[in-house]
Amino acid sequence: MNKYDCIVIGGGPAGLSAALTLGRARRKVALFDNETNRNRVTQASHGFLTRDGITPLQFKSIAMKELEAYPTISVLHQTVIVIKKEETNLFLVQTANNESYLSEKILLATGIQEEFFLAQIRQYYGKSLFSCPYCDGWELKEKPLAILAENEEHIQHMTKLVYNWSQDLMVFTNGNPLSNEIHHEFERRKIKIYTAPIKKLHGEHGNLQSIELTTGENIARSGGFVVPSFTRPNKFAEQLHCQLDENQCIMADGAGQTTVNGIYIAGETKKVAPSSLMIAAAEGFKAAVSINMDLIVERF
Ligand SMILES: Cc1cc2nc3c(=O)[nH]c(=O)nc-3n(C[C@H](O)[C@H](O)[C@H](O)COP(=O)(O)OP(=O)(O)OC[C@H]3O[C@@H](n4cnc5c(N)ncnc54)[C@H](O)[C@@H]3O)c2cc1C
Repeated sequence: MNKYDCIVIGGGPAGLSAALTLGRARRKVALFDNETNRNRVTQASHGFLTRDGITPLQFKSIAMKELEAYPTISVLHQTVIVIKKEETNLFLVQTANNESYLSEKILLATGIQEEFFLAQIRQYYGKSLFSCPYCDGWELKEKPLAILAENEEHIQHMTKLVYNWSQDLMVFTNGNPLSNEIHHEFERRKIKIYTAPIKKLHGEHGNLQSIELTTGENIARSGGFVVPSFTRPNKFAEQLHCQLDENQCIMADGAGQTTVNGIYIAGETKKVAPSSLMIAAAEGFKAAVSINMDLIVERF
């Protein structure tokens, strides 16, 4: 069976950056990826210095090409389904196509996934509806926008934030009431609030045109921002007995070492919260340095 110094699970910026750093440190690395990165729904990624406006596909293929320069890095386009600790203290990684691999260290960099309160949002997500104004606010600046969210705290935060890019805002709470305080605060800025349940989103090819409510109103909007909830896409940390905190996030130090020796974590999966390509890549680098140092200490 193939044995590695480190198996990296996830080929997003966190995992790719970690694999590159470990390869350059002459470690034998296997990187697994199954193309479920959450930004695959969008056409352009912004704010990654030197790569502003690149497509997620190009970003990944440039990074994969860079890994090819290091002969100790293998990239495997497979889905990992199980990770277990063996009696030998090595970790056994099993894939959906029934292959098994052994490794001394594991880096979990499997990202997060969105869940939307309205299934139809997915058709528009990444094209005219987004969740991060820092990523996509510039492209939507000064347009007639919708804020789609159900929770009052989220609505208040997202509306204030997006107001920086466009002051033509309308808030849609999908049947959830808001406090008088928010009504007054938003009224003063001419931000209209619709609390009726949403019946249907209308548009073409992912481009939002209007939002129809159960009251019969159909309100024109050309895009907007949503507040999804986020989940970790697997139970690897639980399977490996990593300790979780009160928010069900995997506990780890600043460099991604979890409470289980040999298991590290990087990128958005760490806090189960959205961040950015740049932050995820930086976390991957930090985790790789920590992994490499642990291998050095154990072997020197
Ligand atoms: C619509 C949208 C637009 C965005 N725009 C921007 C932007 O403009 N700028 C910006 O900085 N950020 C943007 N982001 C955020 C950015 O995509 C994330 O911050 C970043 O991708 C997080 O990196 P990550 O490595 O933690 O996770 P991901 O990029 O999600 O990578 C995780 C990887 O793990 C792999 N994986 C998961 N489970 C398994 C498994 N079991 N086996 C094998 N592989 C597995 C997946 O295939 C995936 O490639 C956007 C996100 C979205 C949704």
